Amino acid sequence: MPFVYNGLPSRVIFGSGTLSRLADEVRELGCRRAIVLATPQQATQGRKVLEQLGELGAGLFAEARMHTPVEITDRAMRQVEALGADCTVAIGGGSTIGLGKAISLRADLPQVAIPTTYAGSEMTPILGETQDGLKTTQRTLRVLPETVIYDVDLTLGLPTAMSGTSGINAIAHAVEALYARDRNPIVSLMAEEGIAALARSLPVIAHDPENATARSDALYGAWLCGVCLGSVGMALHHKLCHTLGGSFDLPHAETHTIVLPHAVAYNAAAAPEAMSHIARALGASDAADGLFDLACAVGAPLALADIGLKEADIVRATEIATANPYWNPREIEADGIRRLLENACAGRRPE
Ligand code: NAD
Repeated sequence: MPFVYNGLPSRVIFGSGTLSRLADEVRELGCRRAIVLATPQQATQGRKVLEQLGELGAGLFAEARMHTPVEITDRAMRQVEALGADCTVAIGGGSTIGLGKAISLRADLPQVAIPTTYAGSEMTPILGETQDGLKTTQRTLRVLPETVIYDVDLTLGLPTAMSGTSGINAIAHAVEALYARDRNPIVSLMAEEGIAALARSLPVIAHDPENATARSDALYGAWLCGVCLGSVGMALHHKLCHTLGGSFDLPHAETHTIVLPHAVAYNAAAAPEAMSHIARALGASDAADGLFDLACAVGAPLALADIGLKEADIVRATEIATANPYWNPREIEADGIRRLLENACAGRRPE
């Protein structure tokens, strides 16, 4: 099959204790006044990073929030200007890394991303921002972080519940990459390897969160899955999750975890080759069942009803999700999507 492959230009440092390389990496970018970004929940961690940077640290902005609200970015921009910052250092999950991207879009500052979840934003040229309750997403290389420091030690304290759902959120990127319209052999290799690394490590982490081998596998898998998200187009599963997150305010990683087996079951007959790769990576006989079993094994919620979706919302969710569908291997049929959402709402095994 002919294909097009676009490599993403970023530098990745992976390992345990790699945070100690931060100052060198900031210098490598030719920068000397870094603004450190964090959420209020990770402000202490942000402050430590600022201290570690010494004279290269200009200040801390610890107000990052989910879905990159423009008013927060505006406040951060004022601080960037007041401090005369020449690069950003984002330590945290997708929300914090999103703020670094939003600043970079406006001020063209180089970014160092230090991910502490498995969401994968650090490897993508994608930025979603919200203003007046509306989320808009754009894809531009201007927002791709120049340097990513993956330090396994920083993930040891990621709470077990979040580890499971964040890890399955990552798997969702690889799953959809395997049946993407613009899939290619390199990204498919990364996708299968990423799913396998996460599938073997997440159940271990659920019982032994400080298991260094499992944490290393999971972060490695998350990196590969992030590359998948950044490289090829996403389909039905991501559309459903954007709908449920954007219009019904459901939490990001949990929503991905619950919807994924159902979206995969919906697409199974239309993408048999992808299904066999997913099943093989999971060590399961069926892709959708294997994903449902993985969610059970990590103790994740299984029903959208348990994370805030009401049965009465299903009709509207179906309308929104089918109005401007992303490309998908199987045609989007309203009846099938409604049934999918009903099953996911009730927490049933995928059909
Ligand atoms: P998050 O960044 O919102 O983090 C959730 C909470 O967990 C925050 O309070 C955070 O401070 C805390 N946290 C993070 N790491 C921690 C750790 N190791 N220990 C303890 N607490 C920790 O969650 P997320 O799932 O990483 O990111 C979700 C957001 O990222 C969404 O807005 C989503 O749209 C976006 N995202 C964007 C892309 C992209 O390519 N643009 C990709 C993935 C996710």
